[in-house]
Amino acid sequence: MEELVAKTELEREAARLERELQDLEALLAEERERLSALSPLPVYWRQVRCGKACGGCPHGPYPYLKVKREGKWRWQYLGKGWQPPEGFARPRAFREALALYHALLKRKEELLERLERAKEVLRGW
Ligand SMILES: [Zn+2]
Repeated sequence: MEELVAKTELEREAARLERELQDLEALLAEERERLSALSPLPVYWRQVRCGKACGGCPHGPYPYLKVKREGKWRWQYLGKGWQPPEGFARPRAFREALALYHALLKRKEELLERLERAKEVLRGW
């Protein structure tokens, strides 16, 4: 009986984590838009998968430009430490928005870890 209660609670916790993750994804999408709007260039903040089993995918966000080359649209990486050109954007607002974005990403990683653990325990039940 006690076990059953614990299991139900864990399932509830997992469902709650899933919902929180969804909310966080929506927030991250909003923040990506905000970052793009702060830059004078049409910079896209993309999350990328490295293709390895690194456990930390996706990485980023990293700044890219969308450029047309030989009639095809391609992503051009701007470099990890890229910032809007001096005088164009408000550098402070930009840095703050980026810091917030990174904090949200970290929160997402924590949530994913907790969810993974909860699911593992539930599988073993
Ligand atoms: Zn990776």
